[in-house]
Amino acid sequence: MTEPSTRVLIIEDEPEIRRFLRVSLSEHGYSTLETGEGGEGLTMAAAERPDLVILDLGLPDMDGMDVAKRIREWSKVPIIILSARGQETDKVTALDSGADDYLTKPFGVQELLARMRVALRKYTQVAEGEKEPIFIAGKLRVDMAKRLVFVNDEEIHLTPIEYKLLHELIKNAGGLVTQQTLLRNVWGPGYAKEGHYLRVYMGNLRRKLEEDPAQPQYLITEPGVGYRLRMS
Ligand code: CA
Repeated sequence: MTEPSTRVLIIEDEPEIRRFLRVSLSEHGYSTLETGEGGEGLTMAAAERPDLVILDLGLPDMDGMDVAKRIREWSKVPIIILSARGQETDKVTALDSGADDYLTKPFGVQELLARMRVALRKYTQVAEGEKEPIFIAGKLRVDMAKRLVFVNDEEIHLTPIEYKLLHELIKNAGGLVTQQTLLRNVWGPGYAKEGHYLRVYMGNLRRKLEEDPAQPQYLITEPGVGYRLRMS
């Protein structure tokens, strides 16, 4: 699955984590560039044009959030944030300032590779402007041209809001979608603080789409951050 030419810029000040990333990524066919400083990271991002950026939030010279924001001013390159436990607020801010996904330390290499594949695929789709008209994940099938939703080949009726919410998650399937993004795109710009709308409608969707709504297979909550539509 990995393309040998995919170049990853690692901006992380902890030498052990940087080494872990360098070794794991090159083992899986990625080439890496690395720095321990945000300022140099920005320079390298501009000069080297990597295909993906892995960005630590706690850097010695700059806030990781500001690095993400600055990159977003001129580039759509996928950014995956690394955060320490307890950095919940920072993580949300970084995601809202344009980062694509996050991993909480410590994380495993498989998890990292999965997040990278989703972020890279999304980037390619955005770049080429292509859209899948049919979405399939396990027993869930959504025909986006006809706006029809099926579970086990049985048609499920969704309200317009429920469909819109599901559609937002499908657009970024496998990836994280923040509460802010969902509220803004489904309900509108004035609803960014109405987190309870999300909980209610996500509950409805789970009852309609999940075999066991209490242990969802597709509609996964990322506590304090947002939701993710799991592909497998
Ligand atoms: Ca750090």
